[in-house]
Amino acid sequence: MKRVGLLAFSSAASTMGLEIVSDAVRETFPEWDVRTVDETTAKESDYLLVSLYWWRDVYELPSFLDKIGLDPRSRRPIIIVGGMMAVNPRPLEGYYHYAVCGDGEDVVGPLLSALEADEDPYKIAGVWSQDNCQMAVANHLPAKAYTEIRKNTVTRIEIARGCKMGCRFCQLAGSKPYRENPFPVIRQLVLSSKTKTIALFAPDRASHSRFADIESMLSRYGKSNSGSDVRLTKLTGQSVASTVRFGVESFSAAGRKRIGKPIGDENLLRHLRYVSEDLRTPKGKNLTSATCYMIADLPGESDEDFNAFWGVLRRWDETLSGRFTLFLSVSSFAPSPHTPMERDAVNPYSTFNARYQNSRPHFRRLVIATRGALIGPGPRMCQMLAIRGDESCRRAVYHIATQERRLLRVTSPAAGRRVEAIVRASGSDPDLLHGEWPDDRPLPWSHVRRPWA
Ligand code: SF4
Repeated sequence: MKRVGLLAFSSAASTMGLEIVSDAVRETFPEWDVRTVDETTAKESDYLLVSLYWWRDVYELPSFLDKIGLDPRSRRPIIIVGGMMAVNPRPLEGYYHYAVCGDGEDVVGPLLSALEADEDPYKIAGVWSQDNCQMAVANHLPAKAYTEIRKNTVTRIEIARGCKMGCRFCQLAGSKPYRENPFPVIRQLVLSSKTKTIALFAPDRASHSRFADIESMLSRYGKSNSGSDVRLTKLTGQSVASTVRFGVESFSAAGRKRIGKPIGDENLLRHLRYVSEDLRTPKGKNLTSATCYMIADLPGESDEDFNAFWGVLRRWDETLSGRFTLFLSVSSFAPSPHTPMERDAVNPYSTFNARYQNSRPHFRRLVIATRGALIGPGPRMCQMLAIRGDESCRRAVYHIATQERRLLRVTSPAAGRRVEAIVRASGSDPDLLHGEWPDDRPLPWSHVRRPWA
């Protein structure tokens, strides 16, 4: 009997991906021992499946291996990485044996079978190689409900994968075609779930072709939906919502057009007013808060963009009938692989945070609660190293992961310059990592084919 260890470093979402893949492994090898591992048990695995969900995980893997004294050059365990960051595993060269590019559930079983039979693993579509690689696309979404491991009070059901909206910055839209679970399957999963709270998850759940039916089915069966991400424009017309989260992303209409999420200021205002005045909670009350996702430091952004946004909010504030809290959830722009913006530049030394704070006006009834910020120069350079790095960056990644981890947090300009120096010392060009990537130069993932694109 072989042992398969499952390792995730960060969020529930990364655990979720591993759970889906582990089901596929159990189906292929029912007699194998497949379980979550940690620092004390990882070394006992024959295969170690690692989720690289976001950029910090690229640093967590070498750090973890270092900490437990596992030499990745040994063939036990065989380390297989997957997840969003595995679309470019090149900066981790030497810290894994195989990488799965795209959906893992139809790849990992055949990959393990090939390894067990001593066959060529690279013949399997979705296994990363530098010269011939195709993104894997699962034929079917899992017809399965997952109970959230940590709390055990929420059932997660994947209703769709990929996104129809195709925002230009969005890796989810760029690296996964849209697919959805059929309504009868979702209904069956909801009916058989033991928890009252259901998280129906999808990048944009309102895009599901039976979205309205799903919502009314949930309330008919007395379930509440904790999955709350939805497009703002889809909320208008909906009558009830318990929690509301939507992405406006850019501060100006021109910026929103540039990123492929076009909504003019007047329309934005109309939809915001709908949320505060017309939407009702399940108890029939007005909503008093909503979360709005914004991206910091989009290319071409200026102070004018802030002014345009505050202008819209000021007009909203004037007509609010009661106090309303808008949580602005700010994350940093990253030129993600397989998106139309993958060659765009970021400015690690941007003064976004100060300019944002200084421009923020006071409102009458509207309360702005900002969550998150633009990550500072140190983390931003580390992020770009993880996203755009190639084999020449592996030493820099290892050094930061094991010797100067503070650079993943410290936001001073000096920290950014220190990362640049480390990258330069490893033989790579920091300007290339954060600057505009030349049109005539392939990106580290340019050879990866996307069969649907
Ligand atoms: S940002 Fe949201 S709406 Fe846009 S493509 Fe991505 S998941 Fe879809």
